[in-house]
Amino acid sequence: MTVTAHATTTFDLGPARALSCRECGHQVPLAAEFACVECFGPLEVSYEFGEITRAAIESGPNSIWRYRDLLPVPSDVDTQPNTEPGLTRLVKADRLAAALGVKSLWVKDDTGNPTHSFKDRVVAVALAAARQLGFTVLACPSTGNLANAVAAAAARAGWESVVLIPSSLERAKVLTTAVYDGALIAVDGNYDDVNRLATELAAEHEDWAFVNVNVRPYYAEGSKTLGYEVAEQLGWRLPDQVVVPVASGAQLTKVDKGFREFTELGLVEAKPYRVFGAQATGCSPVSAAFKAGLDVVSPVKPDTIARSLAIGAPADGPYVLDAVRRTNGAVEDVTDEEVVEGIRLLARTEGIFAETAGGVTVATAKKLIDTGQLDPDAETVLFITGDGLKTLDAVQDRIGPRATVPPSAAAVRKALES
Ligand SMILES: *Cc1c(COP(=O)(O)O)cnc(C)c1O
Ligand SMILES: [Zn+2]
Repeated sequence: MTVTAHATTTFDLGPARALSCRECGHQVPLAAEFACVECFGPLEVSYEFGEITRAAIESGPNSIWRYRDLLPVPSDVDTQPNTEPGLTRLVKADRLAAALGVKSLWVKDDTGNPTHSFKDRVVAVALAAARQLGFTVLACPSTGNLANAVAAAAARAGWESVVLIPSSLERAKVLTTAVYDGALIAVDGNYDDVNRLATELAAEHEDWAFVNVNVRPYYAEGSKTLGYEVAEQLGWRLPDQVVVPVASGAQLTKVDKGFREFTELGLVEAKPYRVFGAQATGCSPVSAAFKAGLDVVSPVKPDTIARSLAIGAPADGPYVLDAVRRTNGAVEDVTDEEVVEGIRLLARTEGIFAETAGGVTVATAKKLIDTGQLDPDAETVLFITGDGLKTLDAVQDRIGPRATVPPSAAAVRKALES
């Protein structure tokens, strides 16, 4: 977190001071850059934090902006139009705990964000940073949740948006993006084609901020707020274990970063905690690398119903391996069948309908418990990152009315008895 003298700041991004290479440590001034010129490693935001107190945070806005002094955003960020995500419920999940055979369990329910997934957190930070960096158009390649979040944030800010999606995307995700009336472009190709197009277009259009490409270092920091909120909502302390879904892996590494920053700033007491990663077997490159004891992650071709986690070449894969090994955690994966069971288990025990990524988290937690990797006596938090209304296809063939009856009480009684 030390900052060299030549990395001068010209943009007001709050406590952010420079971008540092995660591989070689080379620093550059704050700008819309994402790869190190020395070694092509990914760049990450470095900070110089002022004095931050629990009271100051508690008196802040009821959104991620209560943590603005820990994010790469200006101090008046809460006066600028944005989606104000965050401060979602932390639910004490006693009935799910009983079903899984654990003592103390919480669910961080991020279905409650403005566009119903955790992506609103990262997009809100990306928009705030992009505004300071001089961009005027918000853009992304996406398979759904990011498309929703970018189109909504741009609409709220009065910005134009350009959202690129594969043309095969589910109807629901197309409509829930298109309704915000930005430029939604369906590309005949898969997500990799769309991603490559985004990188090409980002180089051509100086005023387009592709949230997960040219402003990715700022965007990724938004996930720290998940870690901050869990610690604050537990009464300013860290949990013993967390289970986090892994796509690119950024979210998992930033939850860990959030816990470490809170500890370094004295906002919570230092204590050991364990970070676990959750993947769908049909796209489990990080789990495979973890189990094989490798430091590198070999790309795979995704084939799973958990499409929001279907990134075959995860950018933060190696850093996920670092975080879980350092904290004595693990990465595990579950079949699509188990994912659907996970969705249904969470719904019937806690009344929370999660998308497929949530099913991955619940099912992975169950597998980690059944295989003795997760301690059933330790306090555990599961991250539920998206709403089940986004992925109705995953469950539609398995659930429905118990019976269809004529409008008579006798018929209802008979149906209830059978
Ligand atoms: C994008 C996404 C994730 C994973 O995020 P990464 O930071 O890429 O690992 C998890 N859950 C949902 C619902 C998502 O949309
Ligand atoms: Zn480097």
